[in-house]
Amino acid sequence: STFAELGLGAKVLAAVKSLGYESPSPVQEQAIPAVLAGKDVLAAAQTGTGKTAAFLLPVLNDLPHHGKAKGPLCLIVTPTRELAIQIEDVCQTICKKTGHRSVTVVGGVSYGPQRGKLARGCDVLVATPGRLMDLMGTGDCDLSEVTTLVIDEADRMLDMGFLPTVRKIVAACRNRRQTLLFSATLDEAAVGEITDLVHDPAVIEI
Ligand code: AMP
Repeated sequence: STFAELGLGAKVLAAVKSLGYESPSPVQEQAIPAVLAGKDVLAAAQTGTGKTAAFLLPVLNDLPHHGKAKGPLCLIVTPTRELAIQIEDVCQTICKKTGHRSVTVVGGVSYGPQRGKLARGCDVLVATPGRLMDLMGTGDCDLSEVTTLVIDEADRMLDMGFLPTVRKIVAACRNRRQTLLFSATLDEAAVGEITDLVHDPAVIEI
């Protein structure tokens, strides 16, 4: 199938062209229609499968542009700074076409610029768990408007001991929300502890 046949609109299709993708990868073929249908998703997909675009394209296709409110409408949590920066790259390319504003917050850099960007408001926030918790604690980041939550590399996050932090982050988001959970594997041992975060999900294994 083509990206257009999966149900993406003109702006996001223009972004696909900017990204240089010709046809959807298997995880994209399965995830894009499910996300557009408003379903929660539980997906087993490793890095290199095209999972980043599998969530970003359909989420940005349908994400409202918020008016004066400050907090993000979509939150993407990922375990490492490197992954956050890769996601931000693809996200910026898509946002150029859709007109959304995205901000990234990661550890290991100073707080000031991230605080300033958050204060100016954003539609999409890409974050690593530790820095996000810090910025929630100082009142710089308000997740109460988050209606789309993406948990990327969930298995790695659990391995790194982020479970308590991830749970606090999720608790700060809207109760009624769409949740997309990506993990290299869906083994009980890898993600069993957090499958309660998704509700009646489309399960995708490639
Ligand atoms: P990811 O699994 O999201 O880390 O993506 C792995 C790599 O595949 C990245 O370099 C993407 O730019 C590339 N990619 C993602 N989707 C496609 C696609 N449909 N066609 C070609 N390349 C893609």
